[in-house]
Amino acid sequence: MNSGPAARSFFFFVRMGTPQAAIMKPTTTLSEATARAGAEIRSALDAYPGRLTLSCSFGGPSGMVLLDLALQEEPRLPVFVLDTGLLFPESYALLAETEARYGIRVDAIAPLQSVAEQAATCGERLWERDPDRCCSLRKVEPLRKHLQGYDAWMTAVRRDQTSARSRLATREWDFENQVVKIVPLVDWSEDLGWAYVREHGLRVNALHDHGYPSVGCITCTRRVRSGESIRAGRWPGFIKTECGIHAPSANA
Ligand code: SF4
Repeated sequence: MNSGPAARSFFFFVRMGTPQAAIMKPTTTLSEATARAGAEIRSALDAYPGRLTLSCSFGGPSGMVLLDLALQEEPRLPVFVLDTGLLFPESYALLAETEARYGIRVDAIAPLQSVAEQAATCGERLWERDPDRCCSLRKVEPLRKHLQGYDAWMTAVRRDQTSARSRLATREWDFENQVVKIVPLVDWSEDLGWAYVREHGLRVNALHDHGYPSVGCITCTRRVRSGESIRAGRWPGFIKTECGIHAPSANA
């Protein structure tokens, strides 16, 4: 059962008792950023023993960095992926490689309906007509259900990725899911993530070498053109920039 109120109390204690904890210093070097992220992960593990889980999309370098850092701190940390059933083969391949490399089992969280079942109830190719509804069914609702078994989750989102993420705190109360959201790489940059990947020899999604800096569902991700932002290839043709699992919290 989710012990949300206890987690919420602790969260507000952290926010009020150590206000500087949520205002991270600008990143200067990889070693400083790594130490800071590691300390945040350690602190989260201590605060939520057995009640913390890690989300990884296998669609960007930051996710692989956070996974590497977190598993160094706790090799048995539960890791999950929101498996929409529409991920690229390269993402599934990276998932399998990651399981082998770290000796872990990634929990693939599936939506209530298969893609075919969704087509039968909502019509074919819902993502082309109503991507918000599709993301809600295939990502937001499965995440909410999965997090009912935890008090906190970690994610590799960063402030520099979208305007909606620009005010993220290192720790937030996730109202949508009624758990604490931990964001250890909140002030990292794309370059810093790549520096960590190179220094530690991490495997990343093979599509990054083919014009896909950010990889989501195969139906909603295109190649990025020269000069475009790294998330310009997500939901092409829509103004949508977020799937909905990172709804702004009251602290953002
Ligand atoms: S990214 Fe596209 S296909 Fe994937 S869940 Fe969202 S709308 Fe559906």
